Amino acid sequence: MIRIRRTNLDADLTLKLLNRTEQLKMVDASPSIARQAWRGAPVEKDQLRVALRRMSRSIERCMYCSDSRGTDVDHFEPIKLSPFRTFDWMNHLLACSSCNSNAKRDLYPVDSVGAPLLIDPTVDDPFDHLRLILSTGAYRWNTSKGQATIEVFQLNRADLRRGRELAFPRCQAMLRDYLRLQGSGKGRDALKMLNALQEQPFADVLHAMYRTMTIPGADIVLGGLEVLEALRMSQR
Ligand SMILES: [Zn+2]
Repeated sequence: MIRIRRTNLDADLTLKLLNRTEQLKMVDASPSIARQAWRGAPVEKDQLRVALRRMSRSIERCMYCSDSRGTDVDHFEPIKLSPFRTFDWMNHLLACSSCNSNAKRDLYPVDSVGAPLLIDPTVDDPFDHLRLILSTGAYRWNTSKGQATIEVFQLNRADLRRGRELAFPRCQAMLRDYLRLQGSGKGRDALKMLNALQEQPFADVLHAMYRTMTIPGADIVLGGLEVLEALRMSQR
């Protein structure tokens, strides 16, 4: 999971969503009525999906697991708990069916004062709550929010762990290539390599590598001084 910047919607879609929300409030909509309204809004859903895909780094990836393609518009706060937020743009995220339908479903744990215990990657920096062990691909938590997020989204499911574990040496190899291309004056090819690196699945692995740069012994954790230098150079 990586930080994502939420963009503004165009005026037309904003108005449509506001009207839809007003309609739900006027009839004091229950969750089932809100779900029915959501199913009956294919145009709005398509437009929301387009807006979310633009926001998603690494080409339309799920905003929770960063692996599979994001196909669903997920309600971060489920319709079951908050029907009036069905058409609230701030409550929409792009998710894959594994994270949305199999893992999260209607789960929405809150703390003792009612604040959500799940990380919203458009609000929180996931790495304030989580740390990724690069050598194994497993997530560990720093906070109770991190712990609940790992559990609810099943972020340590075997396919994701293995995918991250494999993404790490792939990132290392691409960074070494990037450094070599830069060093031999092939700036355009180096840039292509950097773009390819940034659009890979498991963007959280590369993100974790950047976060590791400043810790003592970073070169050992990252797989050598070359990789560390390439990461530094790619930020300039
Ligand atoms: Zn996912």
